[in-house]
Amino acid sequence: MTPPSLRPLSSTTWAWVHDSTAWGYSNCGLIASNGQALLVDTQFTLPATRTLLDAIHTAVPGVEITTVVNSHANGDHTWGNQLVAGADIISSAASAEHLCHEMGPEQLAALCKDEPSTPVTAYAARHFGVFSFDGVIVVPPTSTFTGRKEVNVGRETVELIDLGPGHSAGDVAVHVPDDGVVFTGDAVFNGAHMVVWSDSLSACLTVCDTLLATGATTFVPGHGPITDRAGVVQIRDSLARVREAATEFAAAGVELADAACLVMAGHAGNLAHPERLYTAVAATYREAGVAGVPSGTFALVEGMAQAAMAWSTGTTNMSR
Ligand SMILES: [Zn+2]
Repeated sequence: MTPPSLRPLSSTTWAWVHDSTAWGYSNCGLIASNGQALLVDTQFTLPATRTLLDAIHTAVPGVEITTVVNSHANGDHTWGNQLVAGADIISSAASAEHLCHEMGPEQLAALCKDEPSTPVTAYAARHFGVFSFDGVIVVPPTSTFTGRKEVNVGRETVELIDLGPGHSAGDVAVHVPDDGVVFTGDAVFNGAHMVVWSDSLSACLTVCDTLLATGATTFVPGHGPITDRAGVVQIRDSLARVREAATEFAAAGVELADAACLVMAGHAGNLAHPERLYTAVAATYREAGVAGVPSGTFALVEGMAQAAMAWSTGTTNMSR
């Protein structure tokens, strides 16, 4: 795997981009001006965050990170917060509230070490077992906001946008108007299927429109390569097709697990992690009023683990 790198987008804005769309390799952003910096998200582990901070201090010697914006509460965007001591850590009120429902580092580490006797423990070990969460202390935001908020970073002004629910309970995008850049957090996954933790796939579509309405031309997704307006439109439209298919299955009374398999068979395309479509289908079923749809992190991971197993054994092409 190629190591992540800090890519300049202007003289004051950089993106920290991984070439992997696997779980846990999240992108970050940096806006630095006049000795101050705003960091968009930290990394999943302490070593990964130290590597990021070293790269920042090499690119911008002497800069002080005065603000961290957490795009949402997932650990791959927040578990390095403790290494940015003294910074104001900002997130949306909804995201901060959701933090207490997240799986903590000890829970995730324990899940990865469990005997891989169930689909969910095998899935966790396979995708998260490569990370060490030693020493991670979950540091919550020091301040929250709703709606929109402007933050001054040296001579730059950055706009924080509370996107509402979508990928998570309350995602935040960071808009740098002078550069036409938006750091989307996990409101956008590029090159991989999206995880929908929020129970609303419709909201994910609305969020794409909110991002496009900024007028920005460069979008740094939470995972995957940097994209442009056409890329965001394409992602939105593919989510819309998934929603349409899942809505039809819900109306026809197809069981959720079967519908997830059918949607994977029809919409996996060449994107990584087709099993994440389970979460999009579950969200659509919930929105369609289907009773008993699983909700919450663990239940959704369980559903994805089972969907991954069905996908790898080739049973997704069968309508049972
Ligand atoms: Zn993420």
